[in-house]
Amino acid sequence: MSPGKKARILLNGLRAFASYRLGKSRLGHLPSYLWIEPTNHCNLKCIMCPSGAGRVRAERGDMDPALFRQIIDEIHPWASTIILAMGGESLLHPGLSDMIRTAEGRGIKVHLNTNATLLDENKTEELLAAGISSISFAFDGFGKGPYERARRGADFGLTVGRILHFLRRRKAMRRKKPYAVLSILDLGRDDSSPEDKGKFLRAFDGLIDDVHVRSPNSWGPVFLECPDFRFDTFDRPSGPCGRLWNTLGLAWNGDVLPCSFDMNHDYVLGRLGRTTVAEAWNGPAMVALRKAWLEGRPLDLLPLCRNCTVAGSPRILGVPAGLRASLADGLTNVFGYGLERKAIRFANLMRRGRFTARPVRDGAAAWTSLEDSR
Ligand code: SF4
Repeated sequence: MSPGKKARILLNGLRAFASYRLGKSRLGHLPSYLWIEPTNHCNLKCIMCPSGAGRVRAERGDMDPALFRQIIDEIHPWASTIILAMGGESLLHPGLSDMIRTAEGRGIKVHLNTNATLLDENKTEELLAAGISSISFAFDGFGKGPYERARRGADFGLTVGRILHFLRRRKAMRRKKPYAVLSILDLGRDDSSPEDKGKFLRAFDGLIDDVHVRSPNSWGPVFLECPDFRFDTFDRPSGPCGRLWNTLGLAWNGDVLPCSFDMNHDYVLGRLGRTTVAEAWNGPAMVALRKAWLEGRPLDLLPLCRNCTVAGSPRILGVPAGLRASLADGLTNVFGYGLERKAIRFANLMRRGRFTARPVRDGAAAWTSLEDSR
């Protein structure tokens, strides 16, 4: 990414924050942080995901590579990062490595969220060769029992082995990229002891860049009555959802969505081909949703926003949760991913260990103190 683009993205983040604070619904900047869905097919049936729980009504399919190239052609001057994930497992898309190569070649960082169950040796080599910037392995559980109960259809030993193989290959190639995070949802049903958790994490010592423990979402009303896992509940949102001021979701079929959580395409801003990303960003539907949030009635338009962790999380230094990821992303362009680590630690300090992402790096001792702090 050129220095000029890095500077523009930082400025863009500041404009997003200023527009948010000023309550603007029609924006003078374009989103720098976008989710793109290579596929909404998935190979697992996870209990905490609407797709796995059989609650997705949207048609399933894979993104046409031509549509992906069309998106990159449009967004590459102003997009900083694309996250390849939304309602499915991206490793199922046969053209995933080409997508990564195309976007990285146009100066856009690619982040992949994956359950890693399909990350065999060939896929590992393909991803490393494609030059992906960052990756997070969604691995919810510290032991075979809790993991396989949550991630139905996955095999604990096989998946751990695949993640470790990927990380060892990266190390053997002396690569810093991709920045790799092990992301664990705290579902409140993992009875592993602190010692077992520490033992599990020690397997990743010297290989993984960071380990985050995250709080799951209720996905609006979808899991609100669900006894299968624990999630945070919020009396009220902490303000308008900041995501709508700097992020956007692009589904496999070209539907432009206000948010990556909208797996059912409940609130479609337009269809690519009939609209552009930039037009949808400031089109009537998106402006109406921002206005609804500013007026405190988002559920009139998007019931999915009910009890959302993004809108419910407290602001930190006035910055809403929905804007933090894109602002941090702009800063990592300049200062590297080490800054993200520091930012998460700072956020936890401010929130007394209850930030939605909590780092765990030093094995059992760190895990024990984290448990104590909650
Ligand atoms: S509140 Fe949650 S569901 Fe609604 S737009 Fe924001 S992130 Fe998406």
